[in-house]
Amino acid sequence: NGFTQFGLSEEIVEALDGLKYKEPTEVQERVIPEAMQRKDVVVKAQTGSGKTAAFAAPICEQIVWEENKPQALILTPTRELAMQVREEIQNIGRFKRIKASLLVGQQPAAPQRVELKQKVHVVVGTPGRVLDHLKKGTLALDKVKHLVLDEADEMLNMGFIDQVEEIIGEVPEARTTSLFSATLPRKVRDLADFYMRSPETIEV
Ligand code: AMP
Repeated sequence: NGFTQFGLSEEIVEALDGLKYKEPTEVQERVIPEAMQRKDVVVKAQTGSGKTAAFAAPICEQIVWEENKPQALILTPTRELAMQVREEIQNIGRFKRIKASLLVGQQPAAPQRVELKQKVHVVVGTPGRVLDHLKKGTLALDKVKHLVLDEADEMLNMGFIDQVEEIIGEVPEARTTSLFSATLPRKVRDLADFYMRSPETIEV
């Protein structure tokens, strides 16, 4: 399997193999080595490029199963995308028994609160609902080491900038931040400049 070259553990490569991911796509080829070295990346890539696994595989690799609080936070503009990302995380992390929680709107918050009281390794959500849980004290971000802003241009287009900034402010600074976006307009670059540590820009 072409994913062995990245130094991913057997559990992760086997899960990728089971998904029929035999060779990395271009975005995976370029992003995974950076992420494995915990470097920040700004990635210009479209849906369909394999961008989800590009961040999901290194995050799953770096998750410590024993830790009970969330170690990764992935923000997406829509609940549909959040659902897809969560599924990819759980698929790639299945042999490590990685647990991902979905925090999206238009769904009752109570079951989400119950889930957050149990072991959760990765939180995937939309800004509004993630912020609701933060404000109510039902979501702890103090152990987060990986922050992903997925479809950042869409999040800004949908008017989530204030919420995204408020959430980032609650994530420890000792983290890696990855930003994925189909386009890199000024607003997106500003976000990267402000919240990321000398990120490498990768355009696919
Ligand atoms: P994404 O760009 O993350 O939405 O992924 C697009 C599609 O490509 C999804 O259906 C993935 O399951 C699939 N995919 C991602 N990486 C690979 C790979 N290395 N080989 C084959 N299919 C892949």
